[in-house]
Amino acid sequence: MSTYDYDLFVIGAGSGGVRASRMAAAKGIKVAVAEDMFMGGTCVNVGCVPKKLFVYGSHIGEDIEVGETFGWNVEKQTFDWPTLRDNKTREIERLNGIYDSMLAKAGVEVINGRATVVDPHTVEVDGKQFSAEKILVAVGGWPFVPEFPGSEHAITSNEAFYLEEFPKRVIVVGGGYIAVEFAGIFNGLGAQTELVYRGPLFLRGFDQEVREFLAEQVAVKGINLRFDSDIAEIKKQDNGELLVTFKDGTTTTTDLVMYATGRKPKTQNLGLENTQVQLAKNGAIVVNDDFQTHEPSIYALGDVIDRVALTPIALGEAMVLVDILYGDGKRQISYDDIPTAVFSQPNVGTVGLTQEQAVEKYNEVHVYRSSFKPMKLTLGETQERILMKLLVDGETDKVIGAHMVGPEAGEMVQLIGVAIKAGVTKAHFDSTIGVHPTAAEEWVTMR
Ligand code: NDP
Repeated sequence: MSTYDYDLFVIGAGSGGVRASRMAAAKGIKVAVAEDMFMGGTCVNVGCVPKKLFVYGSHIGEDIEVGETFGWNVEKQTFDWPTLRDNKTREIERLNGIYDSMLAKAGVEVINGRATVVDPHTVEVDGKQFSAEKILVAVGGWPFVPEFPGSEHAITSNEAFYLEEFPKRVIVVGGGYIAVEFAGIFNGLGAQTELVYRGPLFLRGFDQEVREFLAEQVAVKGINLRFDSDIAEIKKQDNGELLVTFKDGTTTTTDLVMYATGRKPKTQNLGLENTQVQLAKNGAIVVNDDFQTHEPSIYALGDVIDRVALTPIALGEAMVLVDILYGDGKRQISYDDIPTAVFSQPNVGTVGLTQEQAVEKYNEVHVYRSSFKPMKLTLGETQERILMKLLVDGETDKVIGAHMVGPEAGEMVQLIGVAIKAGVTKAHFDSTIGVHPTAAEEWVTMR
């Protein structure tokens, strides 16, 4: 018989924490999960889910325009922000409820409130202490905004989901997933949008050709790209407008500045100093291959360990941890060949090595590429194009990378990811019959 209140106390009911709680409870483990904000964490509340709904919403204006080339006459084309915002919020609240009932059904005790670690086996929530044999910290991350004069006038993606009014003009700062996705959302919903990035080209770390191609496409959609640029100061004017001064001395006025300059692990004021848990320089919890911290009874996973900040990774880590602690034993999650999508407009889908990484690693890299206009757009004047790119190791014929810019890129790379995991060769692609007419058939016809 355990002398603890719980076998496992999970701090944070986000993607990783909820999955670990449910899987552990399913194995007969006594589990509690504490959450002080919203059930489902970043992804459900201020991340992947509402973002994707906004991406869908922002694409509809363009679909209406395309509809006209197919003979549809849409006379009244207006967009009402409160409708999108509030319908989205209703859907998120429905999901919050589903998370609650899912945990209850699984036998997990949900404790609403902020948890802090008192010692290696004790957690306190709102003055009440709970003992646990093991503690799992899955508190995720939080948007980071650099400090500069007027930085308090900038919002982050957290606030963008709940804006009172939709802005006419927006500046989005950053060159990562969130900046590129939100620039597409604002632009698609009708705001005059500028994307400001400190480097020469956004999406650092992605395939160079994909980055260049996306920059062209995004510009075609009307986003003003301002690379090699950074904001020095934001001043709020009496009329509510923001006066933005860039580091090169130029100025502009706008209605909204959104910073998407990365996220930091949320490890402050968690009481971790009462334990042996060690933090990296950026505040991330340091763990070993088994997600165990330097304090043997405390584990951590998801964005708070700062390995790969993606929901499916947190889910995968949670399942591995539960197996290690309460299941069939030690196994590891593979961080190789993670398929991922940037829900920019158009989407980017990518899996495996970039061309730059491939030529570094392999002696002979064969590059297959195809660029064409999406069939749905051929009746109109748009300049939008698709890019597909397959990288093959010339010595083994193995496919080592696949990259796409275009509609449904994320959907496609999910399946190419399976094939790459299974060791697919270019010959397998070549011998596969295409589905005609689709964009996806290009993957098997590139020569
Ligand atoms: P990222 O870390 O991807 O990008 C941060 C960006 O901000 C980089 O372009 C970086 O520039 C820039 N930056 C950092 N510090 C500063 C600074 N002080 N001043 C100016 N610019 C700065 O963070 P995101 O916020 O975009 O996303 C966080 C994580 O969330 C991502 O890593 C991703 O894993 C995940 N995510 C995944 C999504 C998906 O799967 N579709 C969607 C959204 C988020 P530089 O490149 O020069 O360092």
